Amino acid sequence: MVPPRARRPEPPRLAKPVDEVPDGSLAALRREAAGCRRCPLWRDATRTVFGAGPGRARLMLVGEQPGNEEDLAGKPFVGPAGRLLRELLAEAGIDPLQVYLTNTVKHFKFRMRGKRRLHSRANAAEQAACRPWLAAELDRLRPAAVALGAMAAHTLFGNRFGLLRERGRWQVPGPETHALATWHPSAILRMRGPDREAARAQLLSDLRTAAAGLDRGFARPSP
Ligand code: SF4
Repeated sequence: MVPPRARRPEPPRLAKPVDEVPDGSLAALRREAAGCRRCPLWRDATRTVFGAGPGRARLMLVGEQPGNEEDLAGKPFVGPAGRLLRELLAEAGIDPLQVYLTNTVKHFKFRMRGKRRLHSRANAAEQAACRPWLAAELDRLRPAAVALGAMAAHTLFGNRFGLLRERGRWQVPGPETHALATWHPSAILRMRGPDREAARAQLLSDLRTAAAGLDRGFARPSP
């Protein structure tokens, strides 16, 4: 007798819906996004910084938007914030092969100060234009998700979500799907002294909660 196939969990739904979720594999989405012109951010950035990680990853970490180093490298979370994130993932015992890293907005937005490119926050229209890519990544992976920072949290859970109030608690943004929100590592790097230590400990604790969620089956089973 053929054993019943495990049911695919629904992808986490975005609180802010998209008209159409692009088709295709992650590799095809990455190629298509490389030529995206849905908003003006492509003009000044070096390249699209699409998500990266194994196609069978069970945990998706969603940041805000690429920074200067990500824009140059074409990969998410390669700068100082990414280094802190990897350090904490290791401390939380999360296997990097289970993790897919991406951002809410896929192009670097900046303003010039002298020769330096300073991060500038994507506006609501730019965030909305980019949401189909994130929706497609969630649809293909059907992971448990961790929103890093307010932009990602509001995209997943809506603008009424309070990061300070609801940080680290599982939300259910769709049938049988689980996601939580926590600090963005770059916010921690901007803090100083005891605040920084406290936020680092909270991010680590929340990543441990995510790891425990994977153990409880909050994403599709491993192959
Ligand atoms: S930021 Fe997103 S929507 Fe705008 S051009 Fe880049 S990939 Fe397309």
